[in-house]
Formats: sequence, structure tokens, C-alpha cells
Amino acid sequence: MAPPNAEISHPTATSNGTLNSPTPLFKVNSPNVQYTNDHIFSKYTYFNTLVKKQADGTLIAEPTETIYEFKTERTVPRVGVMLVGWGGNNGSTLTASILSHKKKLTWHTRTGAHEPNYYGSVTQSSTVRLGVDPEGNDIYVPMKDMLPMVDPTELVIGGWDISGKNLAEAMERAKVLPYDLQRQVKDDMVNMVPLPSIYYPDFIAANQEDRADNLIPGNNKRAHVNQIRKDIRDFKANNGLDKVIVLWTANTERFAELIDGVNDTADNFLAAVENSHDEIAPSSIFALAAIEEGAPFINGSPQNTFVPGLIQLAERHHTFIGGDDFKSGQTKMKSALVDFLVNAGIKPVAITSYNHLGNNDGKNLSSQRQFRSKEISKSTVVDDMVAANHLLYAKNEHPDHTVVIKYVPSVGDSKRALDEYECDIFMGGRQSISMYNICEDSLLASPLIIDLVVMTELMTRLQYKTADMTKFSHFHSVLSILSYMLKAPMVSSGTPVVNALSRQRTAIENIFRAAVGLTANNEMGLEHKIW
Ligand code: NAD
Repeated sequence: MAPPNAEISHPTATSNGTLNSPTPLFKVNSPNVQYTNDHIFSKYTYFNTLVKKQADGTLIAEPTETIYEFKTERTVPRVGVMLVGWGGNNGSTLTASILSHKKKLTWHTRTGAHEPNYYGSVTQSSTVRLGVDPEGNDIYVPMKDMLPMVDPTELVIGGWDISGKNLAEAMERAKVLPYDLQRQVKDDMVNMVPLPSIYYPDFIAANQEDRADNLIPGNNKRAHVNQIRKDIRDFKANNGLDKVIVLWTANTERFAELIDGVNDTADNFLAAVENSHDEIAPSSIFALAAIEEGAPFINGSPQNTFVPGLIQLAERHHTFIGGDDFKSGQTKMKSALVDFLVNAGIKPVAITSYNHLGNNDGKNLSSQRQFRSKEISKSTVVDDMVAANHLLYAKNEHPDHTVVIKYVPSVGDSKRALDEYECDIFMGGRQSISMYNICEDSLLASPLIIDLVVMTELMTRLQYKTADMTKFSHFHSVLSILSYMLKAPMVSSGTPVVNALSRQRTAIENIFRAAVGLTANNEMGLEHKIW
């Protein structure tokens, strides 16, 4: 099927690899940018400020300039996504939604007729200010048209689940999408059956045992890796795919213990897998299989899948990894609100978060060790924003931060998040902000899966070079550009973690701009101030 936006977008590979339309939505007219049939080349000057502290405490700020060259492959490949936990609420919701786009469905609820959209996806449903027209009016373009990106409607979806229900049954079990929509995608989804998966009962809650009926046999962890590697290869071949991305949207696991000699280095990790060591989690097995197959792996759950040895292996294989934990609701609000408060000079002193939910994720999280993984992932989200303002916070001072999650079956996937932000304000005053957020959890998470896949795939086609490099190179294996979609973003060692949502979005926007030779967006609006 031809991509619907082929006439306005960047070139897209058909299944036989030939180019569709080579006409982008916009072209940059600059000596720093060159479009060839296969690539966009750009030259970008990265301005920064180097700050040095003198002996007397004075700060000396020095502007710096570094030239970066970027090279982006223009052909969008045929991409497959393999979800671990395909039969869960997120997996079945994502699959049905993409199918509804492919089939251009309309469905009815008591509020009227609905058509598919990609709301909640930053790549598909947000715009970027490209520049201004001659009259000084802002001109916006869809983020997805900044660079050639895969169209989510064209994704081929597959994956594994320890539950053998087909995707139609899984969608019904999830109770997320309206019946009239389910009815129209059901026949296609009956034939989608998750591949058998690996189940190490110690890692997820005991209350999940009754759905574990679709398992790869045996206890040999290397044999498990090899089976999953074969599944990835078969999926790629059977669907004529150029690339596969593997994404964990299965249950939250407990944290794996970090043990010297077991998961601390790449070689120790590989040896521990050979020995089927108890502390190697299923999610780490999947990540290893993907890394060894050269398929990017993203972790949408909070557990520490990426133990140090596994990160080293991703670097060794030059495979992209990203994580941890989808940032869909409460944490996303937190990373926007605390950023705003602290930057407004208001001091949050306590952030108290209650959640209750009734889906299978909530059931799994009702077990203490799995809840602990979630608590850790939610806990560090304001740290960088607090540390950025020494006028409000003394060194090592933090607001009180409490996270409670309760399982209430009757609310299903409609998660409730109640947050209270207690703040110190002017002259000893207090401000209490209460927020009550009600939303279908999987309708927030599914668009994030799309963004994670679309951006990760793009990063496999984007390379950079500086003056001291002899050839173009990919970005670091740990994809920190994915931070916007993740609660506890992983970054490469030595890189500071950024949780503030606006900074994370600005990073995406400006990297995309640099790749087409445009300067970083600034809000100075100087063109309006020259009379
Ligand atoms: P879910 O429980 O509905 O789905 C998880 C699926 O994973 C289930 O079908 C289960 O059978 C399967 N599974 C468990 N262990 C497996 C294994 N080893 N191999 C293959 N399949 C396995 O949960 P969900 O609501 O779809 O959420 C999925 C994950 O995403 C959870 O860990 C959750 O914490 C995380 N998450 C979700 C959101 C959100 O939905 N808004 C936000 C952040 C994080």
C-alpha cells in the first residue's frame, strides 16, 4: 500500500525497494544543505558556552563554535515492530489503532462518529515552527515532515506474549477501545497470535501465573536468546522488512540484583547467560537477542533491563537501545509542571502522587517488588529541575516526593492520578495545587510507542561528523533523544539526564533542524523589534 502522505513527504521505499516521491514538504535553500537522491547533507554550527570557575569564584563564560556535518538517508525503509507483551493492553490497543488507520475506519460511540488519529504522538500530531514568512508570521510544519520518517500506518506489527490469546481476544480482554471499533478490526486480529515467550516467574508478580500458557520450553537462557533471535530473523524475512525494532511493553519486572562477575561487564553478562544465572531477567534476554541481531531495543517498563554489561554489549554491537518506562500521564505532567514552577521562582516542597488503576498492569504492580521498580522510575523525575535552581534549593535539598499506586479492578484501564504540589511562595506564603487526571492508560502509552519507534528508526539513518572525525558516525548506542517519551531516561555515561519536558522537546526539534541545516529555534523574535 502506498503511504498516504507520499505526495508531500520524503521518499519512501516500496516493498521492492524503489523510491516513491522524492518531493519533501519543504526544502532548505542554503549553501549549508545539499539534497542528493539518497541523502540530505547539512553543515551546522553548534554554538555553546564554556563556563570556567576562577580561583576567586568568578565565572568566565566563553562562547564556543563547533562545526557538525549531518547525513540523513532519505529512503524510508519497510519497518517491523516486535512487541514483547503484544497481547497486553498497550500491544492490543496499538495494533487495533494502526489497523483502523490502514483500513480508514469510522466507528460510532454515544458521542457520534469517530475517525482514527494519532493524537498524543509528538512526531505525528505536533508541529514545529519552521520560520517566519516575509510578513513576519510564524510558519509551522508537522514534526513528521522535518525529516524523512516512517509512517506509523505502514508499520508491520508482531511479537511475543506469555499469554496465547490471539490479538482479537487480547483487545477484548483489555477493555480499552469502543465495541464498534473492536467489531471492525476483530477479523483481522483473530489471525494475529503472539509467539511463545520466556517466563521466569520470579521476575513478575505471582498473580500473573494464570495467563502464562504460551511459553518457550526449557531453562537454558542461551537457548532462549537463540530462539528469540530466530523469531526476529523469521519475522523480518516473512514480512519482507528492511528493519525490525523490538520494544518491551510486557509486565513490569522486579529489579535485577547487580552482582559483580554476573551483570557488571559485557563478558560477565554473556557468561551468566551461558550459565543460565538466576539474576538474568526475561527483559534482558530479549534485549540481548535484539542487540545480537542488530535490532534496536526499547524498554517501556521501569525495571533495570539494561544492566551495565548489557549496555556495554549494545555499544560493542553498535546497536541502539533506549529506556526506561513510558512517560504517559502523571510523570509527564510532573516534568512539565515542576519545570514551570521552578523556572517561575516558585519552590515545590512536597509532591504527593496517588494512582489507582484496575488493568493488568495495576494487578502486577500490586505486588511489592514490581511496585518498587515503578517507584524508583517515578522518583528521580524532578531531580535535574531542582538542582538547576540553587536560589530555591540548597545543595542536596529535595522536595518530599511520595508515590502510591493501588489496584482497583473496577476502574479498569481508566487510570486515576491525584497529585498535590505544595509550594513555598512569596513572603512565607503557601500554594497548594491539586491535580486529578483520569485517562485510559493505553491510549496515552500507544502513541508513545509510535514515537519511540519512529524516532529510533530515524536515528538508524542519521549520522554526524565533526572536524576531528574521519568518517560519519551514528549517535551513541544509548538514545537519549528518546527522553521525551520516557520516565527514567537512559543516557550514555557522562551525559547529564534531562527530565524537564520542554528541554527534551527542544532537543528533538533542534536536532531535526540541524539535520536539515536550520539554526536552532529561539524565541527572540528580533524581526519584530526592528523598525
Ligand atoms: P499488560 O499487563 O496489559 O500487558 C503486559 C503483557 O505482557 C501481558 O499480556 C503479559 O501476558 C505479557 N508478558 C508478561 N511477561 C512477559 C514475557 N516475559 N514475555 C512476553 N510477554 C510477557 O500491561 P500494559 O498496560 O500493556 O503495560 C505494559 C507495560 O508498560 C507495563 O510494564 C507498564 O508498567 C508499562 N507502562 C505502561 C504505561 C501506560 O500504559 N500508560 C505507562 C508506563 C509504563
